Amino acid sequence: MKTTRRKFLQLSAAASALPIASAFAKQARVTKPIVISTWNFGLRANEEAWKILAKGGRSLDAVEAGARVPEGDPKETSVGLGGLPDRDGKVTLDACIMDENGNIGSVAFLEHVVHPVSVARMVMEKTQHVMLVGEGALQFALANGFKKEKLLTKESEKAWKEWLKEGKYKPIANIENHDTIGILALDEKGNLSGACTTSGMAYKMRGRVGDSPIIGAGLYVDNEIGAATSTGVGEEVIRIVGCHLVVELMRQGNSPEQACKLAVERIIQKNPEKVKVIQVGFLALSKNGEFGAYCLQKGFTFAVHDVNENKLYNSTSRF
Ligand code: ASP
Repeated sequence: MKTTRRKFLQLSAAASALPIASAFAKQARVTKPIVISTWNFGLRANEEAWKILAKGGRSLDAVEAGARVPEGDPKETSVGLGGLPDRDGKVTLDACIMDENGNIGSVAFLEHVVHPVSVARMVMEKTQHVMLVGEGALQFALANGFKKEKLLTKESEKAWKEWLKEGKYKPIANIENHDTIGILALDEKGNLSGACTTSGMAYKMRGRVGDSPIIGAGLYVDNEIGAATSTGVGEEVIRIVGCHLVVELMRQGNSPEQACKLAVERIIQKNPEKVKVIQVGFLALSKNGEFGAYCLQKGFTFAVHDVNENKLYNSTSRF
């Protein structure tokens, strides 16, 4: 039978809709609620998020509450209060948040505020915009009740002064001078949200912003498909718009782990030499509550809290 152009278009539309349907129809059982987050501090973040999810609360509230845990902990030197400073000794923070309806809010290069994730949420809910940076972000935060605080702790200042002796800007895999909390949740109602917050790469150039506050790079949520977040050298994640890519790969029928792996492989393809000495990790959660991660170097951990337990996993890695 001859396929007319009209028929052909109908057929291809049906075919392109297939992977989504087949990928998610296969798994009838949905694991929810569930919250997953990056690195060891994800365990404590998950606990806080769980208090909301267990009561049937909204995933957006859960991810914000979870992200605030490492932000407020002065001992965590890669997020919020106590974060390692830039090379001029200033702590500058980046964060973003995204909900089930595709609403987004973000702040970057924000100083003096302990909880950038909550400022990002306020940008999302109280303004016509999606991103505020630097002085403007601070002004907005202060006008909305956030307190101006000193974020540089004695310990972080000491580490910076030590770094100044050599002063080499050299991103190395898994050293303590970077690590972001990315947190993704699926609530009882089946809605997904995510948040991501960091002090960025330690001793970065003043004004440097990484992937973490950039929707599509450091975080992406599509309530039909799934959510993803990232950690590691943000420049490489931005280059491939990493988290949007991971979600789109899930849309094509890949499992969360497979989607994270394909995104990491895209980074490897573009920088076959550089990837040997840097870390990048992706973490993803599907609409069914299936999760997975993949990273370049060994050592990326993530925490998963479901109805049974709050457990730390080691991500599969390329090297
Ligand atoms: N992705 C963050 C950034 O590039 C840092 C990290 O997660 O290690 O700012």
